Amino acid sequence: MEKDIITYTFDCIGCGKCVSVCPHQALKLVNNGMCSFVNVIDVDLCNGCKKCERVCKVGAIKII
Ligand code: SF4
Ligand code: SF4
Repeated sequence: MEKDIITYTFDCIGCGKCVSVCPHQALKLVNNGMCSFVNVIDVDLCNGCKKCERVCKVGAIKII
């Protein structure tokens, strides 16, 4: 099934919880020199479990 990982980087507070919880290392934090925020490494690594979505307290990542 086609899926996508949508990140709302302006809402992301860079806590890294989604990165830690992802069982397939599909996510990473990047730092632009000002702040850290989530980035997708490879959507094909994602199995759509939505653990990242559930752990994010600010709604900054969605699996569709
Ligand atoms: S849905 Fe699951 S596998 Fe996909 S990025 Fe989120 S935690 Fe990782
Ligand atoms: S859990 Fe949410 S706020 Fe924390 S790094 Fe991931 S997307 Fe950003």
